[in-house]
Amino acid sequence: MKKVIVIKNLCKSYGKVKAVNDISFDVMEGEIFAFIGPNGAGKSTTIRTLLGLIKADKGEVRVMGLPFKKSKTYLKDIGYLPSEAIFYNNMRVGEVITYSAKLRGVDCTDEARRLCEIFEVDTKKRVDQLSLGNRKKLGIICAMQHKPKLYIMDEPTSGLDPLMQKEFFKLIHSRQQEGATVFLSSHVLSEVQNNCDKAAIIKEGKIVAVDSIEQLAKRNSAKKVTLRGVTDLPYGIEYTPDSEGEDWISFFYNGEIKKLISQLGRMKITDLTITEPDLEEVFMHYYK
Ligand code: ADP
Repeated sequence: MKKVIVIKNLCKSYGKVKAVNDISFDVMEGEIFAFIGPNGAGKSTTIRTLLGLIKADKGEVRVMGLPFKKSKTYLKDIGYLPSEAIFYNNMRVGEVITYSAKLRGVDCTDEARRLCEIFEVDTKKRVDQLSLGNRKKLGIICAMQHKPKLYIMDEPTSGLDPLMQKEFFKLIHSRQQEGATVFLSSHVLSEVQNNCDKAAIIKEGKIVAVDSIEQLAKRNSAKKVTLRGVTDLPYGIEYTPDSEGEDWISFFYNGEIKKLISQLGRMKITDLTITEPDLEEVFMHYYK
């Protein structure tokens, strides 16, 4: 499989802030790859470096086999969605869409119409009359109408309502079926779990994990235990508290199941559930 994005020992500082601090990972052709991390972790800085919008202090990026210096060559094959898309305010939605297609020198009329229908976008509206969500949709249409080989999208679903988020991922999956690669940043872990193949987690400019979504979830083998009708806290076992109510408690347990059961057998409880933690709970472990 081809490496569509290569990031090697990338560093970028703003004054004393190490926005990106020696990060490395690859995105393979055909993947939907999520770049996850809290606000200020370095996601946008990395994305802007990939696009040639800012220059790294150190390290290397390659996109579709080409180095940063050749970004003008590869940009035409990319659908880029910035985290905050800014348009000329006096233009109408339809004009922005055709202007964006013309910049690439391609006729996207049919695909643009289809996307406008999917996202329920009114092409006659002026850009300055659009809500945040509708601006986002316009940005997505501009990034997708020319059917590029690679999508680089910074927080594509923020501001979209749940129905539109679903439509967005339906489209992304169909583009993946057609052979496209998708690199998107997000801090909504549930959407990453449901829609992406792989993820890199960034925290304070450093990569803390890169793996398939499945493996990332498995790496943490803790179980989530919920006890009801309890009067006392569990004892004799090591656990990480999660939350609690008047007569219930939930916690994460990473030890031997037999030991857990034996200790619970000594407690007064009315009900017990043991589940796999969801990805959100697993990722919190990396975030902390
Ligand atoms: P994210 O996209 O994960 O929210 P960013 O890449 O935007 O994170 O930011 C990473 C860090 O770099 C933050 O501390 C941010 O304040 C800082 N930063 C980003 N861009 C600039 C800039 N142009 N000037 C100064 N500091 C910046």
